[in-house]
Amino acid sequence: MTNASFSVDNRHREALAPIATPDRLLLGPGPSNAHPTVLDALARTPIGHLDPLYVELMSEVQELLRYAWQTDHRLTLPMSGTGSAAMEATIANTVEPGDTVLVAIKGYFGLRLADMAGRYRADVRTIEKPWGEWFTLEDLEAALIEHRPTILAMVHAETSTGVCQPMEGVGDLCRQHGCLLLLDTVTSLGGVPLYIDEWKVDLAYSCSQKGLSCPPGLGPFTMGPRAEEKMSARKDKVPNWYLDVSLLNKYWGSDRVYHHTAPVNMNFGMREALRLLAEEGLDNSWARHRRNAERLWSGLEELGLSMLVPTDRRLPTLTTVRIPDGVDGKAFSLHLLNQHGIEVGGGLGVLAGKIWRIGLMGYNSTPENVDRLLNLFETELPRFSGSLAAAA
Ligand SMILES: *Cc1c(COP(=O)(O)O)cnc(C)c1O
Repeated sequence: MTNASFSVDNRHREALAPIATPDRLLLGPGPSNAHPTVLDALARTPIGHLDPLYVELMSEVQELLRYAWQTDHRLTLPMSGTGSAAMEATIANTVEPGDTVLVAIKGYFGLRLADMAGRYRADVRTIEKPWGEWFTLEDLEAALIEHRPTILAMVHAETSTGVCQPMEGVGDLCRQHGCLLLLDTVTSLGGVPLYIDEWKVDLAYSCSQKGLSCPPGLGPFTMGPRAEEKMSARKDKVPNWYLDVSLLNKYWGSDRVYHHTAPVNMNFGMREALRLLAEEGLDNSWARHRRNAERLWSGLEELGLSMLVPTDRRLPTLTTVRIPDGVDGKAFSLHLLNQHGIEVGGGLGVLAGKIWRIGLMGYNSTPENVDRLLNLFETELPRFSGSLAAAA
């Protein structure tokens, strides 16, 4: 018998212990906790990605996704990858070099859209709002007239600021001005009223780990007929093999031709997550998210805290709370994590150090979770304000 050339020494002992992860309550901007039924589905023995039973499950996932998004779009499927993969898929498939892409930026994820469009050699134009604000129809119309884009890209639920962008009328404007509407619905799908067809959204994407109660790993994607037409008229191949929807549709459509090995267990989980959403009913899920967010908002206000975003534009899935003057926000969230097993997010970019971001998404949107967190804000936060912290 030959000996392995590297022996296990003390440095490796820790790495060889069976995995031990804590049961955290994830009340940050994502990932969110997965539903136990979804976790059970993930732990099942994989089946072949061309097994007739798996093929049937793929159709169920597509049908349930169409329901969750309120769309009849034929090309609706989960990309193998996180939300950013699905984001990139919307751009990679439709943008041709030189196309004018207008990105409405009001937070971190708008910036990412602009970065991606530039990498596919779009002529990227931007309009910006301060973080915490949103666009009016007048803002958008003026920009469409000025820039004459082929695509308007924007974020419905801006996770970096907690703002819900009003979408009524935006799709009609885009049609009047002859451009496609691309919408990031990562933090809205499942938790916030969202109507892809009624709003005339041509391209949208989301992720598995926020409102859908699944671990990260899949990025739902949908493309309507107008976007499909633009994709079909491309002069060159889609410059991204993995995310090429025309190739992927040969697997997800009726041909069932191998493209890449589907992450079958993730799709088991997605199927269950979407089934649970359909069982609850979209309207009920939206109402639950709203109810629990309102419970959080009023509880925080009773404690003297204030929200960044006015009530009528707040996301029920993600609340941004101002860190009071003199409070070390980072120390408090580390305390919640280390002493109480609860994750709460901090601010990004210009909002770093100024806000906490509290997510109540999917399975995590419950009154019990809200009360548990409010209780900790009430009892523990005073220890983190400057004067008290110094005295302690
Ligand atoms: C989380 C998020 C993304 C990116 O999704 P990943 O799953 O992290 O790749 C994109 N847009 C918004 C609005 C998000 O909140």
